[in-house]
Amino acid sequence: MKKYRSWAFIPPIEQKAVRPQWLGFKLPDTNEGEKEKSGSLLPYGNGRSYGDSCLNVKGTVVDSRSLNRFIHFDENTGVLKCEAGVTFADILAVIVPKNWFLPVTPGTKFVTVGGAIANDVHGKNHHQDGTFGRHVLGFELLRSNGDTLLCSPDENKDFYAATIGGLGLTGFITWAEIQLIKIESPYIKVETTAFHGLDEFYALSESANKNHRYSVAWIDCASSGKNFARGLFMAGDHADHTPQGKPNKAVQAEPKLSIPFNFPKLALNRYSIKAFNALYFNKNSAMSAGTSYQHYDSYFYPLDGLGDWNRIYGKQGFYQYQFVVPFSEKATMEKILNKIVESGLGSFLAVLKEFGDVDSPGLLSFPRPGICLALDFANRGETTLKLAAELDELVIKAGGAVYPAKDVRMSSQAFKAYFPKMEEFKAFIDPKFTSDFWKRVNKES
Ligand SMILES: Cc1cc2nc3c(=O)[nH]c(=O)nc-3n(C[C@H](O)[C@H](O)[C@H](O)COP(=O)(O)OP(=O)(O)OC[C@H]3O[C@@H](n4cnc5c(N)ncnc54)[C@H](O)[C@@H]3O)c2cc1C
Repeated sequence: MKKYRSWAFIPPIEQKAVRPQWLGFKLPDTNEGEKEKSGSLLPYGNGRSYGDSCLNVKGTVVDSRSLNRFIHFDENTGVLKCEAGVTFADILAVIVPKNWFLPVTPGTKFVTVGGAIANDVHGKNHHQDGTFGRHVLGFELLRSNGDTLLCSPDENKDFYAATIGGLGLTGFITWAEIQLIKIESPYIKVETTAFHGLDEFYALSESANKNHRYSVAWIDCASSGKNFARGLFMAGDHADHTPQGKPNKAVQAEPKLSIPFNFPKLALNRYSIKAFNALYFNKNSAMSAGTSYQHYDSYFYPLDGLGDWNRIYGKQGFYQYQFVVPFSEKATMEKILNKIVESGLGSFLAVLKEFGDVDSPGLLSFPRPGICLALDFANRGETTLKLAAELDELVIKAGGAVYPAKDVRMSSQAFKAYFPKMEEFKAFIDPKFTSDFWKRVNKES
């Protein structure tokens, strides 16, 4: 038995795994009747999902990380074909020196191509380029009966739509072909503006989303009164040249610093979080306001520079809560923020971003037009779970959704409300595939 875990350490598990080495492999022959017990399968990427969507504690995970080879890269067209276990970090190391970049990237480069497809991940350019799945030209899906399906917007379209954002349940993606975007430099030209309150955020976001490829804000979820919803807004574009004196390096592969041990429980509390947020806001609003050039690595992946940062929450782990509500629900967003501030459970890093109206290709894709907030809650047991359940109620009422990739506790009623195409999706699930997340949200209620 090997240790497999999700990023937030809840629940920490040991489980059976198989590790295919070469394309053309067969999935293990398990007993279908045992699906709820030990006979089930689930693909595993790099475990960067926060909750239990990448875990299958009673069954077996099919670990994709040995399938880490490039198959073809056309430097003229920017079309890349690679095995599903290749990570975004691997890809960047090869493509950036050739002036290409990922079409969409999440806030960590340590995700696999298969994992990025299965959660249809989004990035800071959602308002312009939509989700990652939109840039997937095709992939091969291996089913447990040995069939392989070539899926693309033209071929096996239904499996293509079910597998993008399909939480690993429709089969194992063995390879994928993606369309990259052209860049002139590894640097991002960033405009940083401090804001006070949600109205200022909305105004900055509206203007940035018309004029810039990337936009995102950091927001303080711990302060109230005149500091309520203060934050830093960052709009960015790929620079058209590498600024003088800046190294033209492609990628920083290893974190510079690591958290060597789990933080004790007492280190994180209402006061330390508030103090950190005030310090971060004051330092950065004074130092980084205006235009600067940032290497893409620090712009897109600030947390990757701090190895094992998830240990900061201690061995009890943490919850991440990421949700989106429609633009018409600004009052709900304000109510939710107030609730988080009042609870004193708000985290160091809360990220606020507007999703645009670019359609997501997956039946279960999370992104949809609206305002999206992501934040961590240290695990304080029932207190944290109660707050999350109250937030769920507000999100459901607003017609929004919570992101499965970040979840380990949403109820089946909540999932059904967030993902109305669930019933349509079920027809594409591989009979031998399941996950701990799916077992929870697929319960009859
Ligand atoms: C610091 C940090 C920042 C993040 N920022 C963002 C963000 O900005 N936007 C965003 O969208 N997400 C974000 N995420 C979440 C992350 O991008 C997703 O959870 C991603 O899917 C993880 O990929 P993985 O390779 O680690 O896959 P895993 O977490 O191991 O698995 C994810 C899902 O993919 C399935 N899967 C994996 N491989 C395959 C395969 N070969 N075939 C079929 N299914 C497969 C699994 O079964 C599982 O359901 C962030 C995560 C972290 C830790």
